[in-house]
Amino acid sequence: MVTATRTGHQLYTVTSATDPEKVYTVNMELKSCSCPHHKYRGAYCKHLEAGHWAEKAREIKDDDLGTLYFKYETKEPAIAAAILTEIERRQSILEAQTELLRIFA
Ligand SMILES: [Zn+2]
Repeated sequence: MVTATRTGHQLYTVTSATDPEKVYTVNMELKSCSCPHHKYRGAYCKHLEAGHWAEKAREIKDDDLGTLYFKYETKEPAIAAAILTEIERRQSILEAQTELLRIFA
């Protein structure tokens, strides 16, 4: 399973499927990936797919994230992984906001 972490506008750091220590840079605007599979063969790789689903997951409404995660959990693991990452991203934003409110209360 690959995990896409957003690092900028349409930019992602995506883990390798075979070596979780290895990461590739995906630019969704240019549809490019730094992995050899894409770089030398121009392939639509797993990392680009992960970036695609990460971008799509950002458009999902809060209330629909859980339902969609369970819908794709078993049949489309790449989509489910993107949704889970998005759930965690929104959760960490909420936690940061709560912490800021606590500090400045
Ligand atoms: Zn790639």
